[in-house]
Amino acid sequence: MRLVLLGPPGAGKGTQSSRLMKAFGIPQLSTGDMLRAAVKDGSPIGREAQAVMNAGKLVSDEIVIKLIDDRIERDDAANGFILDGFPRTVAQAEALSHLLEQKSMRLDAVIELKVEQGRLVERMRQRVTEAKARGETVRDDDNAEAFEKRLATYHEQTAPVSEYYDRRGQLHAVDGMGSIEQVSKSIDEHVKHNQAASSG
Ligand code: ADP
Repeated sequence: MRLVLLGPPGAGKGTQSSRLMKAFGIPQLSTGDMLRAAVKDGSPIGREAQAVMNAGKLVSDEIVIKLIDDRIERDDAANGFILDGFPRTVAQAEALSHLLEQKSMRLDAVIELKVEQGRLVERMRQRVTEAKARGETVRDDDNAEAFEKRLATYHEQTAPVSEYYDRRGQLHAVDGMGSIEQVSKSIDEHVKHNQAASSG
């Protein structure tokens, strides 16, 4: 099962990815997590990415495509994966198509979580409050200013990715405003439908 989860920051991609990961026994490949790990390690990629991430802008296509290309090759991704936060530009989506083609792989489904803008800001604030209450570190880009910029970046550069998959008939929009259970149920329905379609 190879899935792409699309949706604005705060849409619930991370929550749904963790669940799908357990349900299907496949890894969640999050470019955001990979980049945060690189920043923490102080690697050359991390040093280059840090300021860009904190400003709510996108790291270069070249860097994230390389991260995903390497990650997909690892053994644990042989039976599938969930892409979370990638592709985020049309160039990344095209590179992914090319990459999968070379490996004779294809995507089973692309799921877009739809959530109203006002709700996204609320969720980000809640995430920060909860993290602080638990004594966890708050992400450097989880503040009103950076979040606003991340939303703008999403509309400018990532919304066209949905159109890219829609044109190819691969996009499934899911209402992301309900409870976690409701959203999970809608995603599972799409996934099952697609599994049936690809096996039949
Ligand atoms: P969220 O899901 O909350 O939007 P992520 O954890 O996916 O955030 O990503 C955090 C930041 O990492 C992004 O704002 C961006 O700077 C960078 N990033 C993550 N994935 C990509 C990508 N595919 N292309 C470019 N930049 C990325």
